[in-house]
Parts: sequence; structure tokens; C-alpha cells
Amino acid sequence: MSTTEAGHPALAFLNTVTDDGKTRAANSFADGEALLAQLLATGAVPRGLPVPGGRQMAEAVALREAAYAVLSAMAAGRKPGREDALTLETAIKSALQDASLAFGPRGLTLSPGPLGGLQDHLVLALLDLLLRDDLDRLRECRRCTHLFLDHGRGRGRRWCAMARCGNRAKTEAFRARQRAAGG
Ligand SMILES: [Zn+2]
Repeated sequence: MSTTEAGHPALAFLNTVTDDGKTRAANSFADGEALLAQLLATGAVPRGLPVPGGRQMAEAVALREAAYAVLSAMAAGRKPGREDALTLETAIKSALQDASLAFGPRGLTLSPGPLGGLQDHLVLALLDLLLRDDLDRLRECRRCTHLFLDHGRGRGRRWCAMARCGNRAKTEAFRARQRAAGG
């Protein structure tokens, strides 16, 4: 999934699952190299980070799932679960503790500190997302768990991407109508 479809690099990170239901059981990457490549492609992390090892991968996936749980609840207008919210809060505070702050004409820029690795980059990307003023446009795909910012007009976008979920949902609805009509 591209950043354009999700609307923010942090969402592209949360969307690194491939199952087309609500299980989030399958990752879109097989190893650290593939994860890093996907995050690079969506702009969630800069070039030059070391390939994450097993522990860093587990950390990133744990962060992803806690952040997904929180944002999924926000998209649905629900209060996030306490444990997930706390996990995300702790991660944000920890990344901020080590972050570098730059005060420029356009405001504050946060970047990971000198020792900051993949996790810090991901957390700060999530913080950037969470502070956006268009977060009321956050939606979850009707079919899968991918999240996106919906800036379309009209009744709104229902699918993460036409190619991934929209077309299949339409085909299923069409078949269901045919079955009903042929009945
Ligand atoms: Zn979808």
C-alpha cells in the first residue's frame, strides 16, 4: 500500500498486514530487510537505518498492533483499550525523551535522538499522525484492517484501496445480487 492511499506514512506502517479480513495475522514482510524496504518506500523512515533484527522486529510489530488498536478505536468513535493506549503513551514518552527538537520558522520539528533507531522513527511518525487536525477523517476499511485518511467528498470512501478490497467487495455484492435474482 502506498502512502498516497493511506494518507500518512505512519498509516502505511500500521497497514503492513496482508490478510483481507480483520485478523491481522499475516505481515506484509517476511524479514527485517523487507520491512525496512516497505517503510522506506512509504517515507515512514529515512534511508540508512540498519536492518532490524529479531528483537527490533518484535518491538516494531508490538508497537504497530498497539497503535492500530488505538487508531482503529478512534476511527470508530470508540474509546481505545486501556492497555493499548498505555503502550502507545509509554512509547511516545520514551521517544520524546531522546528526541532532538528544532525550532524553525514553520514550527517545531521532532527527530529521533542520536541513538534513535527504527522504533523511535516509527513512534515519532505516529505522533505526527496523532497530532494532525484532520484525524476526524480517519477511517478503517470495511473489509480489512487498513486505516486511511478520507478526504473524498460525498458519502466517503469505504475501502483502503479499490485494487485491494473495493473491487473484491463489489464482485461479491454483484454475485450475491445475481444469486438472489436467480433464486
Ligand atoms: Zn481493505
